Amino acid sequence: MTLSYEELLEKNRRYLWNPFTQMKEYFRDEPVIIERGEGVKLIDVKGREFYDGNASVWLNPHGHNRKEINEAIIDQLGKIAHSTLLGSANVPALLLAERLVKITPERVAKVFYSDSGATAVEVALKMAYLYWKRRGREEKQVFLSMANAYHGDTVGAVSVGGIDLFHSAFDRLLFSGEKVSYPYPYRYPGTLEECREACLQELRERLEEKGEQIAGLFVEPMVQGAGGLIMMPPGYLKEVERLCRKHEVLLIADEVATGFGRTGEMFACDHEGVQPDILCLGKKLTGGYLPVAATLASDEIYDAFFGDHQEAKTFFHGHSYTGNQLGCAAALASLDLYEQEDRVGHVQEMSRFTKERLEKIAVLPHVGEVRRLGLMIGIELVKDRQTKEPYSWEEAMGVRVCRRARELGLMTRPLGHVITFLPPLVVTREDLKAMIDILHQAIREVTGP
Ligand SMILES: *Cc1c(COP(=O)(O)O)cnc(C)c1O
Repeated sequence: MTLSYEELLEKNRRYLWNPFTQMKEYFRDEPVIIERGEGVKLIDVKGREFYDGNASVWLNPHGHNRKEINEAIIDQLGKIAHSTLLGSANVPALLLAERLVKITPERVAKVFYSDSGATAVEVALKMAYLYWKRRGREEKQVFLSMANAYHGDTVGAVSVGGIDLFHSAFDRLLFSGEKVSYPYPYRYPGTLEECREACLQELRERLEEKGEQIAGLFVEPMVQGAGGLIMMPPGYLKEVERLCRKHEVLLIADEVATGFGRTGEMFACDHEGVQPDILCLGKKLTGGYLPVAATLASDEIYDAFFGDHQEAKTFFHGHSYTGNQLGCAAALASLDLYEQEDRVGHVQEMSRFTKERLEKIAVLPHVGEVRRLGLMIGIELVKDRQTKEPYSWEEAMGVRVCRRARELGLMTRPLGHVITFLPPLVVTREDLKAMIDILHQAIREVTGP
C-alpha cells in the first residue's frame, strides 16, 4: 500500500513531533517527507530530488544508499543484530575499537561505546569527574567549557554547552561550571593574532585562578559547530593543550561534528598534532547509518578504574544499545571506504575547489563572511556589511534563505543567520558547482541589494 503525500502529512499532524522544529511553522511550509536517498541526493514521496546540503545534519560521508555499507549491515544481520556489551563483548565492537584506536590521536587508547554524540559527552563528563576522585583529587570537580559551545541536548551536555537559546531555557536544571570565550575572529575588533591572544589570555587567567578545581576542559577543536561554524585561529588549540597539561586539566575534545574527515584531516586535533585525554565521536562514525557513538580515553584514565571488586572502582555507566553490532558493522564498512576512496584527500581537494566557487557568494552585499575548513562551510549573513550589524531574530533571514534553497532543490538548515553548508564528503566538483549555484541564488534573491 502506497500512501499519498497528503495521507502521510496527516499522520505527521496527528502523531509526530519533530525535534528542533516549531511545528506550527513546519506545517505552514509544505513539509518534505523523504522516501529514499541516492548518493548526495534525497528523494521525497512526491519524487522531488534535493541535494543533501548538510549531509542530513552533518552525518553522511559516503553518500546515501551505499552498496558496501548496506551489504555489511545485511551480512551482520544474518548473524545477530544486537547483544549486550555489559559484561560480554561482540565481534564488530572489538574490531571497530581497534580501528578507532589506530586512527585517532595516540594518547587515547580505550573505546567506550554509547549511542549518540550527547551520550558520548555524558560519558566523558562522568569519566573525567570520577577519574580525579579515583586519584584522590576530590577538589577537581568543575568543568571548563567554551562560550557558545554545543555538546548535545542531554542535561549534562547542555550544562557544558553555551548556546544561550538552549542554555538559558533550562538554567535551574543545569550544573554550573566555568566558561571562557571561543575565538570568533570575524566579530573581534582586531587582527586574527590579537583575537587568539585575547582568548588565550582569558584562559590563562582562569586556569591560574581556578585550575586546581577544574577536572576537564571541553572544546570543539578547530571549528565550533552549532555555535555558528566558527573557526579557531591557527595555534590556538595547541596552546590550549599546553595550558591543560600545565594545570593538570583533562583535555576533552568533542569531535562529534569535526571527526572523520569533515575538516580536511581525519580528526580536527590532527591539524595541530593535539593529543586529547578524552575524545568524543559520533555522527559520521557509522557512515551516517546507525546510532553508535564512542568516547575514547587515555590508558591513564582507564587504569584509574581498573581494580578488584572490593575496590569499587567500576565505571557504572552504560546504555541498552551500547556497541550495537549492526552499527559497528556499518562503521567498519565506512572506515574501509575512507581508505579505499581516500575520503580525506578528496575532502582536501574539494575544499580547494569550493574556495573559488564560494567567491561569488562572498561578494554578495549581505554576506559578512564565508568561513571554511575542509567541507565545513558557514555563510554569515549580515544586515550591513560595513558595520557587520546582524539581522534581528524576527527577520529570520537564515530560515528564509534555506526555505528558498529548498524550493531550488537543496536542503540545509540555518544556525541563526549562518547558512550551513556541509555536503556529504563524497561530493564531486559537478555537485558542488550546482549546490553553490543554488545557495548563491537563494541568498541573492532573499537578502536583496
Ligand atoms: C551534534 C553534536 C553533538 C550531539 O550529537 P547527537 O548525536 O545529536 O547527540 C555533540 N557535539 C557536537 C560538537 C555536535 O556537533
